[in-house]
Amino acid sequence: MPSQVVASRIRGFISLNAHPAGCAANVDAEIAVALAGAPQAGLSDALVIGASTGYGLSSLVSAVFGYGARATAVCLERPPQGDKTASAGWYNLAAVQQRAQAAGREVAVVNGDAFSREVKQQTLAHLKSIGARLDLVVYSLAAPKRTDPATGTTYSSVLKPIGAPFHSKSVSLGNDQVTSVEIAPASEADVEATRKVMGGEDFVDWMRALGEAGLLARGCRAIAYSYVGPALTFPIYRSGTIGKAKEDLEAKTRELSDWMAERVGGSAYVGVMKGLVTQASAAIPVVPLYISLLYKVMKEAGTHEGTAQQITRLFRDHLAPGVRPTVDELGRIRLDDRELAPSIQAQVSARWDQVTTENLADLSDYASFRGDFRRLFGFEVPGVDYAAPVETDVPLKLV
Ligand code: NAD
Repeated sequence: MPSQVVASRIRGFISLNAHPAGCAANVDAEIAVALAGAPQAGLSDALVIGASTGYGLSSLVSAVFGYGARATAVCLERPPQGDKTASAGWYNLAAVQQRAQAAGREVAVVNGDAFSREVKQQTLAHLKSIGARLDLVVYSLAAPKRTDPATGTTYSSVLKPIGAPFHSKSVSLGNDQVTSVEIAPASEADVEATRKVMGGEDFVDWMRALGEAGLLARGCRAIAYSYVGPALTFPIYRSGTIGKAKEDLEAKTRELSDWMAERVGGSAYVGVMKGLVTQASAAIPVVPLYISLLYKVMKEAGTHEGTAQQITRLFRDHLAPGVRPTVDELGRIRLDDRELAPSIQAQVSARWDQVTTENLADLSDYASFRGDFRRLFGFEVPGVDYAAPVETDVPLKLV
């Protein structure tokens, strides 16, 4: 069993390692947020696909600790190997499993490619073996590629504008400089590939497989996450390749909702969430600079939320048993209301015009962006002794 001092090895928006004690401390902080004011009961079985980091991890924690669910978590994470640490999501789920067990709750973990038929079959077999009747399914995958099981073709998603190049300010996470970037427009094949990866096909495949296996409880609710954002990021996000994929997810979710209503008296939703620092969002050009400005403005206004706060609000106001979700004209639950408030966006946009490398620290909360990014991997977490050796070979009980 290797015990070692783990120093962060971050290159741009990629982290090469993770700190087990820091990840466990992050999970404890998430649990504390999920417990506050929650009934700790109400759900019986939940399935969270993409449950190891970001919005999916917060959803898992809320379902289990806030609403008492027995949960199954699907993820794609790297186990520890020799003196190489595991990925952050592995340590996160190991901590969730440990804390759940201590609280008398169960969290089963399936680690593998959620897009594949094998992982769906493995998950279904596990759910049948425990006699699960799912009253909540959360779909929170953010993936760079997908092999379509029907054809065997592998698609890679891209983050590009459509139609014309996009010129914008951006911050380089490598050297903290505000620079101008030009991003070339996507080809039609790029648009389609991104839709295949991040659109709604796989969410529908999961729900149909679960429904056909008789695993959905009466009144089951399913939710997937989307983003809209401000006009400032439209060319790279909502009007770009990823936005097209999100439109597909939203349209397919509306059809899915009709199918669930007919089949089990249930419903499917898209939750439009706030822009936040996660492994997925840090990789999107322009977005880190926008998020740094947004954090500053929202913190000053007292309306800033992290993934845990966003998800606890989603559960409390919309998804909790007996609560009827409030939806927009497209049937989406909006958790981005505070981000898109006109007073917030007016300030972000004014700062966007002024921001340079020299005034970045004053105008934005870039320091928080960087800190939050490092915390995703368990580094710079308050209360953790980084000089002390830690056991990196942390077990995760897999299905
Ligand atoms: P994230 O990178 O933190 O989490 C992605 C999850 O997907 C992880 O659990 C990872 O293990 C899992 N995963 C990736 N590929 C997989 C595969 N092939 N098989 C199994 N699991 C796999 O991402 P996130 O930012 O929390 O994003 C989750 C969802 O929320 C996405 O749909 C994203 O578009 C949406 N969203 C994110 C933001 C944001 O600002 N971060 C805002 C609104 C909506």
